[in-house]
Amino acid sequence: MRLKKAEREQVRLKYGGHCAYCGVLLGDRWHADHLAPVVRELLSKQTVAGTWKLVSGKPLRPEHDVLENMMPACAPCNISKGGQTLEGWRTWIAGHVNSLNSYHPIYRLAKSYGLIAETGAPVVFHFEKVSP
Ligand SMILES: [Zn+2]
Repeated sequence: MRLKKAEREQVRLKYGGHCAYCGVLLGDRWHADHLAPVVRELLSKQTVAGTWKLVSGKPLRPEHDVLENMMPACAPCNISKGGQTLEGWRTWIAGHVNSLNSYHPIYRLAKSYGLIAETGAPVVFHFEKVSP
């Protein structure tokens, strides 16, 4: 949905101008994220040069494309979440430490020198900390 200026400001202020997920103070280039994803269909479209590219089409869950479902998000959180559900994204983020240990020798090396301390903390989003 295309937000009107006042609606966009309403979404931005939902958590005091902070990203609903990580809590960073939002700058000018923040995103309005769909908490429950709308998931858009992907269409192949031929360019003028004759090559093909994927473009997003209509939402597959249009019932989620409403103001009440919009969350203020920093670009990294919105891009990371993509079309995932909140719980799917939480599980995915929680798995990052295992991925770092499995696939990144420089992470393991930094950890062996005490530069990184894994806490085992659960993934708690900013809006969950500030909401009753
Ligand atoms: Zn964020």
